[in-house]
Amino acid sequence: MTVPITGWFSVVLEPITNSRPLCRLASIAGKMNSSKAEANLMNIKAWYFEISELKKAMLEGLGLINNQIIQLKEDAATDPLTGAVNRRSLHLLLKKLEQKNIPISALVIDIDHFKAVNDTFGHALGDKVLIELTQLMQKVSRKQDIVARTGGEEFLLILPSTPSDLALTIAERLRERVTKMQIEPVGKLTVSIGIATSSKHIKSNEELLKRADLAMYQAKKLGRNRCELAN
Ligand code: GH3
Ligand code: MG
Ligand code: MG
Repeated sequence: MTVPITGWFSVVLEPITNSRPLCRLASIAGKMNSSKAEANLMNIKAWYFEISELKKAMLEGLGLINNQIIQLKEDAATDPLTGAVNRRSLHLLLKKLEQKNIPISALVIDIDHFKAVNDTFGHALGDKVLIELTQLMQKVSRKQDIVARTGGEEFLLILPSTPSDLALTIAERLRERVTKMQIEPVGKLTVSIGIATSSKHIKSNEELLKRADLAMYQAKKLGRNRCELAN
């Protein structure tokens, strides 16, 4: 039960009760990096205008910081040129899949004779090819797939829970779509793809990637513009 405060008591106590939200705002201001900062701020009852304005400003500031953190996390996980997942982030994602015992198929995709593209048309156009190829890979992949750039003109497409026959079909479809890409004035572009799939003989995703890599080199050896399954 609350007893209404009247008489001279109210004059003395008013600044104390009214300043409580201010104390709580000050306390939150000292812990803005807490994951609960936003929820704590929302819980403060802003009785009067100044408190309400302070609370609003702090919430806005927190929103800006959070957006910047999200952007920084995204930047740290992706390749700046193409926006594909970078090596560091790829390893973390592969580890997670491994921990959850999710089998994968991996496609190692390497552009054929890419050096000639740079030499003939310049580095800027070479970059454009890398960006457009990434966009094509992102277009043909599913929500759960991972498109990563692992080297200069080398990419990885990780297909979780995908058996090798389906991975081969997806790889063939991608290889064909690359030959139909129109990047003027570069002309026809081809890729060589190596494919490996999780099995009881493969101990880790790291080993699986090595096998996919060897299969890609086999595709190069056999004439390029082709897909090869790992042994
Ligand atoms: P292969 O068919 O055997 O794969 O031949 P290739 O010419 O594609 O391979 P090579 O390893 O000889 O050359 C790769 C080229 O990729 C050389 C390098 O200049 C280019 N490259 C690497 N990173 C970038 C990049 O970020 N942008 C551009 N434009 N070129 C890059
Ligand atoms: Mg190449
Ligand atoms: Mg290469």
